Amino acid sequence: MENKDIIPITLKKIIDDISQFQGYGEKSAQRFTVNLLKMPRGEAIELIRTMNKMLETVHPCKECGLYTEKEICDICSDDKRNRSVICVVEESFDAFTIEKTQVFNGLYHILGGRLSPLEGITAEDLNIKKLLERIDRLNIKEVILATNPTVEGEATANYIHTLLKKKTVVVSRIAYGIPFGTVLENVDEYTLSKALENKIKL
Ligand SMILES: [Zn+2]
Repeated sequence: MENKDIIPITLKKIIDDISQFQGYGEKSAQRFTVNLLKMPRGEAIELIRTMNKMLETVHPCKECGLYTEKEICDICSDDKRNRSVICVVEESFDAFTIEKTQVFNGLYHILGGRLSPLEGITAEDLNIKKLLERIDRLNIKEVILATNPTVEGEATANYIHTLLKKKTVVVSRIAYGIPFGTVLENVDEYTLSKALENKIKL
């Protein structure tokens, strides 16, 4: 018998595309698509409209890489922040989570990922050059490496730590009240604020 693909072609394309997202497989892509199809049509269209708007308006801050609707984000343009400390995170959502703890009042730097040889993500793919440039230009005194406590996050922190040895900055690593293997986004605010307070000098 001829092997006929009975999945509607647009449905298949969307599932194929979403399956490529980091952390997504075909199953979660299918779930997303089915949920969308089950939504009341008006709500689904509104969601797609919002996604479109997000793509038009949200982009990385020119200075730190944090997702923002402005050219320079609210943190970079806030002169009440401590401008001598930078907290380095993998993604914007890590910074949003840390921000909720209210224990950190410095600046952020978003790497846009983490080193992952398996996925072909190298240092050149990350926002590292800009970090070094900011440390010099802003005369940064302390760098807190708050990449995730995962194998890749550790490797990324170690890599940046090595680069910073040539500079006169204090480098610390977020403390491990956070279980190894978890991502910051999923850590509760209390644990995360403790991890920041008990950061370890490297
Ligand atoms: Zn910024």
